[in-house]
Amino acid sequence: MLQAIEVDPWRFCRERRSWEVRSDVAEFPRLAREFTQGTLFCRVVGRTDQRDGLSLQVTVSGEVGLICQRCLGDMSHVVEIERTLHLARSAAELERLDALPDSDAIQAGETLSLVELVEDEVLLSLPLAAMHPEGKCPSAGNPIFKE
Ligand SMILES: [Zn+2]
Repeated sequence: MLQAIEVDPWRFCRERRSWEVRSDVAEFPRLAREFTQGTLFCRVVGRTDQRDGLSLQVTVSGEVGLICQRCLGDMSHVVEIERTLHLARSAAELERLDALPDSDAIQAGETLSLVELVEDEVLLSLPLAAMHPEGKCPSAGNPIFKE
């Protein structure tokens, strides 16, 4: 399992630090349950903007294996995430930042787990029910009658 990478998100951005890892999905505590296989490349970069705003640029890419909810067979899914998350100190600030066009924000406290942040983004990006396109399941037929 990946070690929890806890950082002070405010310092991380102000000092423009970055963290990256390439790891098997089995190493991510919460992703190991979702995916059958795959490797993800993750990068988190701290940034400051002119107006003293702090943000994290999150990049995750890779190909993972999922279980198709239609045929229960393996299917591959491409993860391609590129998001900028602004740091908010309070619920009010979070609301204000979220309302800006093309803006995403997270409410950040004293510490932030980078592994959990990456996991959140990957889980949010998944389709609600992962399935092969209609009629494209490799083991064609109704799974109920397969046994
Ligand atoms: Zn299928």
